[in-house]
This record gives sequence, C-alpha cells and structure tokens, in this order.
Amino acid sequence: MQEQEPELIKENLIKIKEELPEGTTLVAVTKYHDLDETKEVIKNGIFNLGENKVQDLIKKMDEIDEPVHWHMIGHLQTNKVKYIVGRVELIESVDSVKVLRKINNESKKKNVITDVLIQYNLTGEDQKYGFSRDDTQEWIDILPELENINVKGIMGMGPNTPDQAQIKAVFHELKEIYDKIGNYNGPDNLSMEILSMGMSGDYPLAIEEGANLVRIGSKIFN
Ligand SMILES: *Cc1c(COP(=O)(O)O)cnc(C)c1O
Repeated sequence: MQEQEPELIKENLIKIKEELPEGTTLVAVTKYHDLDETKEVIKNGIFNLGENKVQDLIKKMDEIDEPVHWHMIGHLQTNKVKYIVGRVELIESVDSVKVLRKINNESKKKNVITDVLIQYNLTGEDQKYGFSRDDTQEWIDILPELENINVKGIMGMGPNTPDQAQIKAVFHELKEIYDKIGNYNGPDNLSMEILSMGMSGDYPLAIEEGANLVRIGSKIFN
C-alpha cells in the first residue's frame, strides 16, 4: 500500500457518504484490493463489504477480525455455496433457481436462514448473469419450499454504456420489478426491503431511480 493511500481512501469515502441520501446502505466493494486496503475501509467505519469471488471472500473472512457484514456480489457456482452459507450477511447475486435451491439445502444442513437478493439482468448483455423480468413468477413459486431462504430484495447492474438515458431506463425497470413484487401477496420468506443497484460510474442515477443499497468499488480507491 502506498503511503498516501489511507488519506485517499478516507477522503473518497467522506465524499461518497455525503452524496448518499439517508437510509442508503453503502457496500464497499473491496475486490481487487488487498487486506491492508480492505482494513483501511473498515477503519473509516464501513462494515458492509462486497466481494465477487468465493476464494477471496473466504480469505478475507478468515484474516479480518472486525465484525464485517460480508456481501457476496459475484456469480456463485453451486459447488462453492457451502463455503459461504452461515458466514455472509447477504448473498446479492442469486442468478438461477439452481443456486437458490443449493443455498437452501446448505442452509438447512447448517441450521441457518440465509438472506439473499435475486439478481436481474435487464441489460441485454449476455455476459451478465441474472433473471429476466419474465422469470419472476418462476422463482417466487418455489419459495414456499425453501424454508431456509429469505429473499429480501433484488439486485441489478446498469448496462455498460456512456448513454445515461439507457442506464436510467434499466434502473427504472428494476425499480418497477421491485415495486411489483413488493405489492404482491407472496410467501412469508419474501419481502422487498433492499433494491441494490448502482456502482462507481452510475450510482447517482441509481439513487434517483430508487436504489437503497449501492455497491461502490473503484471510486473508493482511485
Ligand atoms: C465490481 C462490482 C461492483 C463495483 O464496481 P465499481 O465500478 O468498481 O464501483 C459492484 N457490483 C458488482 C456486482 C461488481 O462486480
């Protein structure tokens, strides 16, 4: 870690926090950053941290003693679910029914309830994982069987484009889906409390469109 970096992280976090409306949760995405840099974020009072790879997540969970609320935000392979169930605060990136069932099974084995978000992909970019709007009923219908899962909201990403209107449209549709599910008389383990959208490049737009959790990485460290 370079000498000036603690100061930079501190200043960036102050700026970002000033911009977030009250009630918005900041998840600091520490992927690509080592233990020292991750600890620097924690020193500034940020305890919600996001990682996108199971291996990195486990390493940091093992080596950081502070009471961090870990968020899994990357694609999760079913064979790796067992390593994080019972240890993370929230799995934000549930992108298939298969992984949803697997999280339920592992949670049952460990006798825990796991909070998750359902990830939507409305960008039309097929390298991004996630459900489409039309898949909504499919995952809702199986929730009554999944007693060790709590669905607490949805997560999505904006499209990778400089076109602000296009990004805004995707966030707008995510909010529509969120509201629609929220108004639906669903099973007890379904509640819409968290709308996770917005990253370093587009979080102001996401907030305008109703995000109450933003996942910010590069803007903290650069
Ligand atoms: C990397 C990542 C982020 C943070 O991206 P930045 O542009 O660095 O802020 C947010 N969400 C997900 C799912 C990511 O993979």
